Amino acid sequence: MAQTCDAIVIGAGIMGASSAFQLAKRGLTVALLDKSYVGHGPTGQSSAIIRQHYSNELTARMALYGLRVFQDFEARVGDECGFRQTGMVVLVEAADRAGLEANVALQRAVGISAELLSPEALRELVPGLTTTDLVAAAHEPESGYADPYLAVSAYAQAAKRLGASVLQNTEVTGVRFHAGKVVGVETPGGRIDAPVVLNCGGAWGAPVARLAGVEVPIASCRVQVAYFRRPPGHEAPHPVVLDFIHASYFRSEGDDLTLAGLVDPAEADAVVDPDRYNEGVDFDFISEVGERLGRRYPAMERSESTGGYASLYAVTPDWHPIVDEVPAGSGFYVCSGFSGHGFKLGPAVGVMVAEMLTGVSTPRFDPRFFRFSRYAENDPVRGQYEYSIAG
Ligand SMILES: Cc1cc2nc3c(=O)[nH]c(=O)nc-3n(C[C@H](O)[C@H](O)[C@H](O)COP(=O)(O)OP(=O)(O)OC[C@H]3O[C@@H](n4cnc5c(N)ncnc54)[C@H](O)[C@@H]3O)c2cc1C
Repeated sequence: MAQTCDAIVIGAGIMGASSAFQLAKRGLTVALLDKSYVGHGPTGQSSAIIRQHYSNELTARMALYGLRVFQDFEARVGDECGFRQTGMVVLVEAADRAGLEANVALQRAVGISAELLSPEALRELVPGLTTTDLVAAAHEPESGYADPYLAVSAYAQAAKRLGASVLQNTEVTGVRFHAGKVVGVETPGGRIDAPVVLNCGGAWGAPVARLAGVEVPIASCRVQVAYFRRPPGHEAPHPVVLDFIHASYFRSEGDDLTLAGLVDPAEADAVVDPDRYNEGVDFDFISEVGERLGRRYPAMERSESTGGYASLYAVTPDWHPIVDEVPAGSGFYVCSGFSGHGFKLGPAVGVMVAEMLTGVSTPRFDPRFFRFSRYAENDPVRGQYEYSIAG
């Protein structure tokens, strides 16, 4: 293999595939490489909740852009993404009420459909939820979830239709430089040359950066998800529930299952080798998340557990990604570390990256927010909640 292109994208998760699509759309020749296959990483195993609840104007706008793309995916990308609009509610404790209200005001200011609900209104919207511990909830009627594997495959196919080479089973084993500038990558099949290399390695973001001699604070953390079959009388799909009081989330999966996971910063403690970790779900996790689910949705105490799995979050110190050229002027770009909430941002990240790489001076989504130097500057991205994981 000896190939030359304008840009090499390492990693065909949602970030790599969306970036390759947007770059190809702008006329660049692109090679999208994955050591395994498109969507093999956490992207294909994502809960893929498309919510808008973010604490910062930029991320809220990015989430809204993503929602619009997922709602109209076939027209914009060319295939199905399985988007289901179930609505979503966010539940916080009294101490976080001001943060919740500020988030909803911010969302509305950027054009997101969001409202505050009283506990009574929430009970009407989602009968069966426990609301006695709530003072208010936020509601996003347009939110929902997608099929992550369909979405990432569609992006890769769309990039391919625009001329990108999509090379699966192609591991990048080295990043080559000449006089401080990127000149390409090494793979077991040979060299590929390009003046730009984009690290969309996700959970492998740190080892891929290391191939270029760059250290980034991205930890690969094992996280779990469990499924429960909804009991008789509660088969109907329900909205997504993001429950910060019980540090958990759940959403419908298909017609009769509910998928549940945690939104617990402690998940960042389970740092693992992304190539060698236990991909099965722990019995203790199923009990723990099932108990939290039952506390919020008591009918689910009668649900049947139907297993689950473990996957990876790529976690940074402030739970936000690094999207930057590192070092400046090198042609090596990092776009990794989406810390468990990146799927919905994928469509906007593709635009952000393509504009950054083509030198757009007033970008639609300014990547400086995600600059690498923010950690050294002690200026991390901050959220409205104790849980920065909320974004
Ligand atoms: C269980 C779970 C639930 C989630 N739920 C949500 C949610 O509800 N909503 C949401 O918005 N986000 C969610 N996320 C987060 C979201 O899925 C991720 O942020 C996003 O998918 C990350 O995509 P990525 O493209 O950065 O990386 P990844 O999906 O990690 O892809 C990286 C790719 O790089 C490839 N690669 C690695 N090293 C090399 C190499 N040397 N050469 C070539 N290829 C390489 C890998 O094979 C992989 O395919 C969840 C994540 C998990 C794990």
